[in-house]
Amino acid sequence: MTENSAGPASPESGEGSNEATLVRSQERSDKVEADLEKHPGNWRLLTGDRPTGKLHIGHYFGSLANRVRLQEMGIESFLLIADYQVIYDRDGVGDIQDNVMSAVADYLAIGIDPARTTIFTHSALPGLNQLLLPFLSLVTDAELRRNPTVKDELASSDRPMSGLMLTFPVHQAADILFCKANVVPVGQDQLPHIEQARVIARRFDERYGRVDPEHPVFPEPEALLSATPHVLGLDGTKMSKSRGNTIEIGMSADQTAKLIKKAKTDADRHISYDPANRPEVSNLVLLTALCEGADPYQVASEIGDGGSGTLKKRLTASMNDFFEPIRARRQELIADQGHLREVLRAGNRRAGEIADQTLDEVRHAMRMVY
Ligand code: ATP
Ligand code: MG
Repeated sequence: MTENSAGPASPESGEGSNEATLVRSQERSDKVEADLEKHPGNWRLLTGDRPTGKLHIGHYFGSLANRVRLQEMGIESFLLIADYQVIYDRDGVGDIQDNVMSAVADYLAIGIDPARTTIFTHSALPGLNQLLLPFLSLVTDAELRRNPTVKDELASSDRPMSGLMLTFPVHQAADILFCKANVVPVGQDQLPHIEQARVIARRFDERYGRVDPEHPVFPEPEALLSATPHVLGLDGTKMSKSRGNTIEIGMSADQTAKLIKKAKTDADRHISYDPANRPEVSNLVLLTALCEGADPYQVASEIGDGGSGTLKKRLTASMNDFFEPIRARRQELIADQGHLREVLRAGNRRAGEIADQTLDEVRHAMRMVY
């Protein structure tokens, strides 16, 4: 759900990424994708975002557009705004109100339909958060420290690791399992998180048993690997809320034009699409192609010797065209905060009822009903 940069590792084995595992994961994901289309009713999907800033065009092309596609295929979806995850690696909640309401507006503006997709914040669901206690009994400290996101934080941050950061993979398992989601769209780097949720589901069954003898309390979720483009920011590193290198979905046409003007390019005047050797220029070409629904090689060859000025002008026009209707809807939505709040409250009510039902089953399975 939230991305991280480390390679996949299985929480069971603690081994790093290997080709064979990735190939197997891809094959499995391809089967899931085929079945989603054939039997959409068999699936429940969970995705989410950390409200650490405003959603950007990297989010749009990297995951939001895919969520709308899956919703339109008839798959029941849960969309988590992971507000507790904001505080696992920083002090304080930041502009949490603004970030959360802005995310709701973005979702609705791009076509997420709250009648089919439950939008919720996990802080509002006591039942979800209480799952953390039994789940924590099912993992070891060593396992958590092997999680790539946790490991990254240990290696790269000079702040002491919080207990919330250490246990974040378990909280994420609760996010998935509270609603018994059985499919989670992720990038390769997040496979270990899904594996952790699968391990927790399995161990819960082995250790605490079932309510219905035919079915474990928790299904083991499948990862849906998306072939998403990796959108770079204006400085040539991954576009990220926290790097200040984004074009936000909600920005105006003028702001977009100004930012694109400043985007990093290189000294070669001839425009080509060559992500490995010319990441910055290729990123601008790719964004143009994504906005136009065109092929990036074709876009690059059309611009050719026009240079980065021509490329930037074309990208600005294409991006502003593409996002114009989304931004217009977004502005109307933002102006009606009452409606946005009502959408979120309704989502929280619905997700909360499901969390309470699941917690009830957990209490039964654990014979803690008094
Ligand atoms: P932060 O800086 O707080 O980590 P972020 O901008 O990296 O924020 P996340 O909330 O970590 O955003 O990302 C959520 C999901 O959005 C990711 O798992 C990924 O699927 C998608 N995503 C984010 N940034 C990009 C990007 N630059 N290109 C493609 N997909 C992206
Ligand atoms: Mg990130």
